Formats: sequence, C-alpha cells, structure tokens
Amino acid sequence: MKQDPTVPSEARFETRAIHVGQDYRSETGAVVPPIYMTSTFETGNPGNFDYTRSGSPNFRNLQTTLASLENAQHCTVFASGVSAITAIAFGLKAGDTIISEQNIYGCTYRLFERVLRKFDVHIKYVNLANPANYPLIAQIKPALVWLESPTNPLLKILDIKAISDVAHSVGTTVVVDNTFASSLLQKPLDLGADLSLLSTTKYTNGHSDALGGAVCSNSDEWQEKMIFSQKALGLQPSPFDTWLTSRGVKTEVLRMERHCANALDVAQRLEARKGVVSVRYPFLGSHPQYELAKKQMTGGSGMLLADFGHTQDEALAFIRRLRLFTQAESLGGIESLVCHPATMTHASIPRDIRLEAGVTDGLIRFSVGIEHVEDLWTDIENALNA
Ligand SMILES: *Cc1c(COP(=O)(O)O)cnc(C)c1O
Repeated sequence: MKQDPTVPSEARFETRAIHVGQDYRSETGAVVPPIYMTSTFETGNPGNFDYTRSGSPNFRNLQTTLASLENAQHCTVFASGVSAITAIAFGLKAGDTIISEQNIYGCTYRLFERVLRKFDVHIKYVNLANPANYPLIAQIKPALVWLESPTNPLLKILDIKAISDVAHSVGTTVVVDNTFASSLLQKPLDLGADLSLLSTTKYTNGHSDALGGAVCSNSDEWQEKMIFSQKALGLQPSPFDTWLTSRGVKTEVLRMERHCANALDVAQRLEARKGVVSVRYPFLGSHPQYELAKKQMTGGSGMLLADFGHTQDEALAFIRRLRLFTQAESLGGIESLVCHPATMTHASIPRDIRLEAGVTDGLIRFSVGIEHVEDLWTDIENALNA
C-alpha cells in the first residue's frame, strides 16, 4: 500500500496514526476527509474507483493508515470483525483444514462450526498455549492456523513466532486475531504471522460507535483474495463507519496507554484483595505466560479476567451492582464494560466444551476504560462489598 509521500518514513506510530492515509487533502486542503456518500463512481476516474462495494476513498484512507500501523504492505477493510473472518474463511476450499486455538472468540467458533463445516472445511481445536501440541501442525499440515492472542476471554498468550515457524515449515498460513492486543501493542506480521486481523470495532475505533474489520498482510496473493472477498461476498463497510474509524484511530496511542495503565492498576489491586480467587492480566507477574506476553506485547492492553468465587447467579448480581462498568458485549471502547462470558460472549459454545476450555460459570471479564482509575476501583469495591 502506498505510503503518503508527505509523511517521513521514520515517523512513529503516534504520528502515522494521524498523518498516514490523508491523501484526500491535496485537492481541497480539507484537514479532515469528507465522507464519500456515493454508491458509484464515474468510469475512468484517477483513483480507479468503480463501485463502493469494491472500494471508496474512505476505505482507502483507513486501509493506508492501518497497513502503516500494522507494519504491513496491504490492508483491506470490512463491515465488521466477523466479515473479516468470513473473508479469510472463504479464501479456503472444500477439504481444507484449519487448526484453531481452542479458546477463540465465540462468533469465530460459531462461524467455523455452523457455516464453514457445511462447506466441508475441517476444523481442529487445539490448546496452542502448550508447545507440546505444536507438532500437530507439522503432522496435519493444515491450510490455516488460527490464533488469537491474548485469547478471549481467558487471555492466554500464544507464541506467535514459534507457532509461525512450525506452520511455515509445512507451508501453512498463520492468521492472528490481533483485536485484544491492538495494533499498537502487538505486531503479528513482525512476529512472523501471515495475516493480522482486527475487529476495528474495538480498540482501533475505540468509541463504541462503529463496527468494522480489517485484514493486514504482506502477501500479494492473500491481498487479492481479500479484495475479491470484499467485493464478491459483499463484506464492505460503509463509508461513514470507516470515516469514524479513521477518526478514532488517531487517538489509539493515548487511549491504549490509559487502558493499559488502568487495567494493570485494577488487576494489581484485585490480586491484593482478600477473597479474590484469581485475576488474569497479561502483564501481571502471576500470568502463566507473563514472560512471553512481555516479549511479544509492549503493554498488557485493557482486558482483565477475575474469578471472585461466585456462582453464575452471584456473578450476575455483582455485575448488576456495578455503576460505571456497563454490562455489555464488546470491549475496547473508552467506557468501561463488564461481561459474563458464560452467558454472553460464549453462550453459543456448548457448556461442556466451554468448561473444558476454562470458561467457568463465575468468570467475569472487564474491559477497563479510560475513566479515572480511582472511580473504577471504588465501583468494583462497592459492588464486591455489598
Ligand atoms: C469483537 C471481536 C471479533 C468480531 O468483531 P465484530 O466487529 O464484532 O464483528 C472478532 N474477534 C475478536 C477477538 C473480537 O473481540
């Protein structure tokens, strides 16, 4: 993807988030791009646009920015994270196999099980946090290895480089769902993955007001597949949503810094609190893959998981007592959210499979926002003490 020639090549993430992908400026001087509310384009225009299902200046702005932030040559944007997953999935063919980390986003699992299987794609779920399982990749030689790191909701950390090395030895493509980490904190392509996928709905946009997805890569072949999927499957976003996301991403660094600081602070306080059964956060020393998290991420991100020893009913009652943490699916917005994975994000996974993956009935997932941390802490303490 062409870098904006006015942005110095050594510019850092903060600068690129604001200045790359702004090539609409040359014609009008507008500091903020217009929203191109047009379904079609006059044939033969210099930007080569034809129809908004297969491209728009607003898509191009965001794609250029995200490719730069993910250290990628290519980026394609989609209507949602699930559309981005669909785009990759339909790059496969009947008979292909996916080896997937077992603890993946609930809707990815549903798409694999209820849609892909109908097209005779085989999916094998494996605990890829355990290196003893890596040889399965070399044995099975799947078309794709599907990773998420940190995983949802258990925040397991997968060794992207080690897994990519094994996968590449047998010609397998590695996808990393980078949504929980964010483009700022983790660079899957630099770590060896072939495709980095984002639900831009989350940290990229950061304001819970637009859905979107993106796939970044350095592969011309996969980029062609992504553009084809966007157009042929009708997975394109709206110009307005991409415009919002282009606005949101400009503050990704400031937001992520606060998300990380607040989440680490809350995680440490929870861990020190009597009666808390467990707290999981990638940058807590107690995280089973703390060293790996430190190696492949530059911050712990804003998600944390706690077990207060609650039954399902007690966990839901605790959630209802919170005032600043809104009970909702999703994550990565500036406002704090709380979720009960067993009845919400992972409700579509059969209970025995969910429990086997470690998603127990009392687990509570926090998306720590950028409010003042003392207010967030008081809210949690009050709800726990009640
Ligand atoms: C939210 C999410 C998705 C799906 O994204 P949508 O934008 O909601 O379609 C995929 N992966 C992860 C890890 C997510 O958190």
